[in-house]
Amino acid sequence: MAEQDFYEVLGVSRSASDAEIKKAYRRLAMKYHPDRNQGGDKASEEKFKKATMAYEVLSDESKRRAYDQYGHAGVDPSHGFGGGHPGQGGFGDIFENIFSDIFGQGGQSQGRGGRRQSRGADLRYGLQLSLEEAVFGKEVTLTIPTYISCKPCAGSGANKGSKPATCTTCQGHGQVRMQQGFFAVSQTCPTCRGSGQMISDPCRSCQGQGRVRDEKKLNVKIPAGVDEGDRVRLTGEGEAAPLGGSPGDLFVEVNLKPHAIFERQENNLYCEVPISMAMATLGGEIEVPTLQGQVKLKIPTETQTNRLFKLSGKGIKPVRGGSTGDLLCRVTVETPVNLTREQKELLQQFQESLEGGNGKKSMPKESNWGAKVKSFLEGLKT
Ligand SMILES: [Zn+2]
Ligand SMILES: [Zn+2]
Repeated sequence: MAEQDFYEVLGVSRSASDAEIKKAYRRLAMKYHPDRNQGGDKASEEKFKKATMAYEVLSDESKRRAYDQYGHAGVDPSHGFGGGHPGQGGFGDIFENIFSDIFGQGGQSQGRGGRRQSRGADLRYGLQLSLEEAVFGKEVTLTIPTYISCKPCAGSGANKGSKPATCTTCQGHGQVRMQQGFFAVSQTCPTCRGSGQMISDPCRSCQGQGRVRDEKKLNVKIPAGVDEGDRVRLTGEGEAAPLGGSPGDLFVEVNLKPHAIFERQENNLYCEVPISMAMATLGGEIEVPTLQGQVKLKIPTETQTNRLFKLSGKGIKPVRGGSTGDLLCRVTVETPVNLTREQKELLQQFQESLEGGNGKKSMPKESNWGAKVKSFLEGLKT
């Protein structure tokens, strides 16, 4: 029969790259795939087969070379030379490989033609911790709504005294191969949904599911030094799988509550400490809180607002090891409020004493600023 040119079938040029060929085949396969054209659309099925045939050849370097050189004779098995026989399996394999990423099936649940290895879902639990709990660690009891393995049937789904039988549709493989012309398509067995087993007498507690919805209580030890978003993995403590598969994992994710005094940045702690105008000016000693209790902090004379004091090693010891962080205290000078008339007058006298005498010397920032503003305004006039 007269064969259509493979490049024409896929609608690509003879110099098309592998990626272009794959993309063209995907587009056609999505359009003409038998699952999408049910009800015996022969024309679509034919187009799908042609596209698959063309892809099978052009995606294989040696077959493509033979095809370019000898045409269809180079790759047609009836001519006795060229690449491998595109028979059973060959097309099924391409089909599985290329469709697993298009339709999102395959992957973990489908071994190559094998029994479905069912696994319970992983669970995530958001655990709110105070800063202290995260820093020092904590043992918590969690109550988790989940699937647990059914006790009466021990997860088998079969009623007491009965046993699950091998599925007669797939002979226990979990998959069936549908022959469509000369290529085969693997599908999850519709009778047993991939488990390979049939339960004739289902367990009454779980209706043959092998698992039931319940709550479980777990004691979890949160190690010292965890941070926002850290996850503690509890292997096998996720959902039970249906029919005796392996359970998923539980991930306990740490969420930190805001703290009244400290702000955490990785292993360092920040805190803002208000001090009086007099303390900032004259200097002295204040007490600041740390995770290990109060410590004294010396405020030097003439301390400006926003000055940062570092208390080395007063931060957090990280959970993964490494050096302990620091505590950084930012002092802010508080403007006095609710003053009496006498106090205001005293302050006024004080201010006048500066202006009358050496204002420049006592307030260098302010007088420097004044000079800059003056020169800026003069510049505007010219
Ligand atoms: Zn049961
Ligand atoms: Zn089956």
